Amino acid sequence: SSRGTLAEVLGRAPSDGARSSEPLIVCRNVHKQYGAQKVLCGIDLTVKRGEVVVLLGPSGSGKSTFLRTINHLDTIDWGEITVAGQHIGYQRIPGGQLKPTGGLAQARAAARISMVFQHFNLFNHMTALENVIEAPIRVFKMDPVEARQLGLRLLDEVGLQNHVNHLPHRLSGGQQQRVAIARALAISPRVMLFDEPTSALDPELVGEVLAVMRKLADAGMTMVVVTHEIRFAREVADRVVFMDGGLVVEAGTPAEVLDNPQHERTRRFLRIME
Ligand code: ADP
Ligand code: MG
Repeated sequence: SSRGTLAEVLGRAPSDGARSSEPLIVCRNVHKQYGAQKVLCGIDLTVKRGEVVVLLGPSGSGKSTFLRTINHLDTIDWGEITVAGQHIGYQRIPGGQLKPTGGLAQARAAARISMVFQHFNLFNHMTALENVIEAPIRVFKMDPVEARQLGLRLLDEVGLQNHVNHLPHRLSGGQQQRVAIARALAISPRVMLFDEPTSALDPELVGEVLAVMRKLADAGMTMVVVTHEIRFAREVADRVVFMDGGLVVEAGTPAEVLDNPQHERTRRFLRIME
């Protein structure tokens, strides 16, 4: 069944009460600036195993930067990030700055973090299946025959069993994004990060991508999702975090943050969104 494959890919049964109290992502006092511009100004966020966190905030509030730092695509200037017990490999160097101890790519692979981007970022010269099995084979040295079987099952999970040999340009945006999700799943991620996964899609294609994400959430995947889809946040998120100016302004259940926001900045943002 589909639940079976996803649970297997997740490498565990959907989270139970005991396991869901385990913090998988711990960010403390994360600071990041580009030149003189402070982009992250002391972010704290803890995400438990199996939790779905939706990150909301206006453009320029630092959401993408924050996801990139969790994913070790970028270094931070101050603070701590731990994912799946991997202390992201930063060490403080004289002068107080943080320097990654191993390579960032190594830390990303060790923590098994996957990220899905707004613009899919597929390899355009590779078929859907080749896109999905590239990282398992190259980064994780999976046996190619095994990787192919996994890739076919994952493409089936996201409803693309009839498109496995298609190049990206033959696929719709929604199909391309589902290939990207299958690719992200292929490394058996402990954590999946989504950066506005439906923002580049025509409205009629948004639903098919959100449906796959909902399925992942139901299977117990730990997810941090930047999105403007308030309805998705309301229905799928365990927790909603509102960011502005590089800080967490407020966080809570969807009902708390979306229906009863405590801060004027949150209220203003939600008024514009709805
Ligand atoms: P959001 O995703 O919430 O829209 P971003 O994290 O993309 O916000 O950007 C936050 C701020 O950081 C913006 O002002 C942006 O211009 C700046 N910024 C992001 N990435 C870079 C970069 N690589 N170099 C310089 N400035 C950047
Ligand atoms: Mg962004």
